[in-house]
Amino acid sequence: MAKVLVETSARHVHLSAADIETLFGAGATLTEKKPLSQPGQFACEERVTLVGPKKSIPNVIILGPARPATQVEVSLTDARTLGVAAPVRESGDIDGSGACKLVGPAGEVEIPVGVIAAKRHIHLTPADAEEFGVVDKEIVSVKIDSCGRSTTFGDVVVRVSPKFAAAMHIDTDESNAACAFGECYGEIIK
Ligand SMILES: [Zn+2]
Repeated sequence: MAKVLVETSARHVHLSAADIETLFGAGATLTEKKPLSQPGQFACEERVTLVGPKKSIPNVIILGPARPATQVEVSLTDARTLGVAAPVRESGDIDGSGACKLVGPAGEVEIPVGVIAAKRHIHLTPADAEEFGVVDKEIVSVKIDSCGRSTTFGDVVVRVSPKFAAAMHIDTDESNAACAFGECYGEIIK
């Protein structure tokens, strides 16, 4: 059975062009530090502080490029630390999601919505999807065999696009729960 690469997404922020300027100064743009596995996506040099009613989390990474709407992706542990709501959502589905404040070197942004815990998902190209026998938006399970914490995750949404590279994305809570560290692969179970 073919297996899919499992990658852990640490807490991160996607920013709109307007919010980049508010946080980093007029005319500011994002500076690429490192490419991510998904083509065209990159980690940035810039960082922000997340501020909630309970606590702050400094030095949070920004992923580029800029997006139409600012979105904050945290683990549920982070959401508790901050004291904010973070409903489990697919990226981009932010109506009615959590609020928080972002602080950068040049300014602050209060977002009334946009804080989510990303729904675990698998990026596949159309060719990968055919190989795995799955289709876009299908919900599957993924079994991860690890050293002492083998775990099967349900409610994993498949996303298919020619722009993707094959990878499952889980957050740090999920990764810790399954000891899915290092180079890790999961088996897709229908
Ligand atoms: Zn992803």
